[in-house]
Amino acid sequence: MIDRFPIPQFNQLTTPFYYYDLEVLRATIDAVKQQVDSNPFQVHYALKANANPKLLKIIKDAGFGADCVSGGEVQAALNAGIAADKIVFAGVGKADWEINLGIDQEIFCFNVESLPELETIHELAAQKNKIARVALRINPDVQANTHAYITTGLEENKFGINLSELDEVLQKVKVLRNIALIGMHVHIGSQITDMSPYADMCGKINELQLHFESKGFKLKHINVGGGLGVNYEQPDAHLIPDFESYFKVFREKLNLRSGQIVHFELGRSIVAQCGSLISKVLYIKKGSSKQYVILDAGMTELIRPALYQAYHHIQNLSSGLPAQTYDVVGPICESTDVFATDYRLPETKRGDLIAIRSAGAYGETMASRYNLRNLPDSYTSDEVRG
Ligand SMILES: *Cc1c(COP(=O)(O)O)cnc(C)c1O
Repeated sequence: MIDRFPIPQFNQLTTPFYYYDLEVLRATIDAVKQQVDSNPFQVHYALKANANPKLLKIIKDAGFGADCVSGGEVQAALNAGIAADKIVFAGVGKADWEINLGIDQEIFCFNVESLPELETIHELAAQKNKIARVALRINPDVQANTHAYITTGLEENKFGINLSELDEVLQKVKVLRNIALIGMHVHIGSQITDMSPYADMCGKINELQLHFESKGFKLKHINVGGGLGVNYEQPDAHLIPDFESYFKVFREKLNLRSGQIVHFELGRSIVAQCGSLISKVLYIKKGSSKQYVILDAGMTELIRPALYQAYHHIQNLSSGLPAQTYDVVGPICESTDVFATDYRLPETKRGDLIAIRSAGAYGETMASRYNLRNLPDSYTSDEVRG
């Protein structure tokens, strides 16, 4: 994989920057399409993982729709040329302007997370004499076996409508004339690598379907959210996530009614492995018991380690010397600005190029200007290799 990184060209570019290997992205998309195309499945790419227009164009050309969690993302999806009728819009706190944007653009569906939100969408749609399509985001109370900060499907999370409130919401749906209930939505969390939570979730969806039907609702659309994880430990051995096992769960476990369409909201699994954060070593600092590699990239470019204690594979692209043990840190004035501790890297020197791997998802989109740093640039393999 090291030769996937064009080091001479990298040396002309100002670090830190994101590098996207479009060959990996295209192969990943092809692997998804292989699973999806002969089934009643529609993929909505979750823009919050990475909204870089260069990537969005490829994703749009693949025929994927968009899963958005803000008005800004709805706008970015539209700007990328994704048709409004392939856009779904989730989020617990949709502001009026964001709802109005969705109604005006006639997006495919609002994934509604509470009763007051449903009433607000109805009110705004009524003012425009329009009907807003909605799916109810149900909190299925499924344990996703992932990091506590990125699990979303438990009763105690802020997301979705709890089962105990569902009947009240359904009562209300019946009287809201500018609302069309077209589906249900669940999303249980992120970086899920064990398929059993998805199987549990399908069981819950099957029960929920019966419940909806008992109340007189036939739903055309079942949205199962996203969350499929990637292998951060060994990216090169697992460049393409195991989409086969993932989609198989839904093919086998969901009891679909005739004509029903299953919607998927994949983010991380589509873009994580194609992206690397490329950085330069500023200093090697020796402490009494440790030595530090101090990079010119930090939590401002890639916050996942600081925010979720996330692991990323790190490579020295410039050195082939025997390994030593380092803490790899950024320059930001925060103690959590650490990419890895006690990490084995070839002997590293000032000026070496470092790749932090699997950084295509929740990397560039989470970059900040803390410490008044500039936002990172991005380059694709198409641009850099020419
Ligand atoms: C974040 C999010 C996704 C995408 O999650 P990934 O783990 O990146 O696949 C999908 N649906 C909703 C509602 C989300 O909030």
